[in-house]
Amino acid sequence: AEAAGGGDKEAVRAYFNSTGFERWRKIYGSATEGVNRVQLDIREGHAQTVAAALSMLRDSPLELAGATVCDAGCGTGSLAIPLAAEGAAVLASDISAAMVSEAQRQAALAQATAPGSTFRMPRFEVRDLESLEGRYDVVVCLDVLIHYPREEARAMIRHLASLADKRLLISFAPRTLYFDFLKRVGELFPGPSKATRAYLHAEAEIEDALRQAGWRVANRGFISTQFYFAKLFEAVPVASSS
Ligand code: SAM
Repeated sequence: AEAAGGGDKEAVRAYFNSTGFERWRKIYGSATEGVNRVQLDIREGHAQTVAAALSMLRDSPLELAGATVCDAGCGTGSLAIPLAAEGAAVLASDISAAMVSEAQRQAALAQATAPGSTFRMPRFEVRDLESLEGRYDVVVCLDVLIHYPREEARAMIRHLASLADKRLLISFAPRTLYFDFLKRVGELFPGPSKATRAYLHAEAEIEDALRQAGWRVANRGFISTQFYFAKLFEAVPVASSS
């Protein structure tokens, strides 16, 4: 199969430009009005994933200030903005134009509220990650693979790996029995839209896709709240020693 081609990708794009945009902007935001308990819980879990990704990068031998970072599927900029605040040169891209303009708006706010800081305005692009080109010290892709089935996810990982020189950070919802159960119960992914369909990925599957791309997992994290579950992998090229 082509990388996230055809129906899945078009449905995901449409979703994140409409109802999905409204839903996720609310979840990733800070207002509490009109946000239900499940959404607040997912907000908390996602914030932990972002924090874990940031600390993995801070703990790596990389100098974040000045490093080139590609945030693929940046959403509202939850990770791109703090990286920019540390002086990284960030390309923040997303398949959804609505998401990109929200990220842009939040980045402008962040810059305005931290005058004189190291903040380096990211470059924003509306693009699917399959069409990204170039090389970056770091490529990050958080909570995006959930929208794609196995083969598409593998192809996406292969492409992301080809863009990265030093670090590749990927988070995904792990396929576990308990998670399958929650998903069946239906609380996690309400709504009839096809695009809200969630694909879970086995840890071994993601690791294998990375290995085939010439990368190995150097660090892993597991984030779970009541309704949010994510595995976070920090991968390095197999040949690398750092
Ligand atoms: N990475 C962000 C974060 O963790 O805050 C956003 C996560 S959100 C659940 C998934 C995002 O992936 C959405 O903004 C969606 O538009 C984007 N997306 C989905 N498929 C994509 C693709 N093929 N290429 C680029 N972005 C994509």
